[in-house]
Amino acid sequence: ARSLSLFISYFQTGSCLVVKTEGGLEEELWPQEYPACGGHRQSPIDLQQNQVRFNPALRALNLTGYQEDRLGQFPMINNGHTVQISLPPTMRMTAPDGTEYVAKQMHYHWGGASSEVSGSEHTVDGIRRVIEIHIVHYNAKYESYDIAKEVSDGLAVLAAFVEIQEYAENTYYTNFINHLANVRYTGQITTLRGLDILDMLPRDLQHYYSYEGSLTTPPCTENVHWFVLADSVKLSRSQVWKLENSLLNYQNETLHNDYRRTQPLHHRVVEANFRSFPNQRE
Ligand SMILES: [Zn+2]
Repeated sequence: ARSLSLFISYFQTGSCLVVKTEGGLEEELWPQEYPACGGHRQSPIDLQQNQVRFNPALRALNLTGYQEDRLGQFPMINNGHTVQISLPPTMRMTAPDGTEYVAKQMHYHWGGASSEVSGSEHTVDGIRRVIEIHIVHYNAKYESYDIAKEVSDGLAVLAAFVEIQEYAENTYYTNFINHLANVRYTGQITTLRGLDILDMLPRDLQHYYSYEGSLTTPPCTENVHWFVLADSVKLSRSQVWKLENSLLNYQNETLHNDYRRTQPLHHRVVEANFRSFPNQRE
């Protein structure tokens, strides 16, 4: 019962990632407790090039305040499932349809169970990427995340992949990665100062996939507008290794492979405002 309550309290904080052992609820059993997890617009999905609808009318996302809090303080927690950074409500994202969203938190999904295992949630043509970043936002027309997470047009997640660039240390990640040691144990909190979220994202913010999906953890609410960036963040192998091996879960085991399996597309259409894959774009 203890682990089940941990499980539930975790999901009430609004993150979206997979839990393999908590409360004994394996992914396949989620729908029994949370019917939405068995729904028809679930996330993550496999982004298939030959299925994506090219829509040049999708304008670039407008990100404001992502850089203006350089002097601000950002609480960062090991919640037993990922490292999560709280974001100030001055960070906003405007979707191409004009909807404004308020940033709530960002977290990471990684692999690391063996040196060959990648840990992104979305895959591209069946290929799992090394790491996936999620920045969770809620619709600005609602008073709070807690209200927005219950309604059909409540949430939007900006997602980005990480790729390994062998020996090229990404200095925009130094501050964040250095602080992982302070949150080794579940429940530990530290404070990041002077974080520039824009610098922690891919350089190209213009091109993205877009589709209607869900939270990737229970309760799997089907109210998330997903924006998955085509470009990726580059980290050195050593930086990726540190993210994969710094945190411990509730059982004091190293936190690995915190991703949910890809879900069927069903009737949905994925749109993109670029024609080819980022790898081939150059
Ligand atoms: Zn997530």
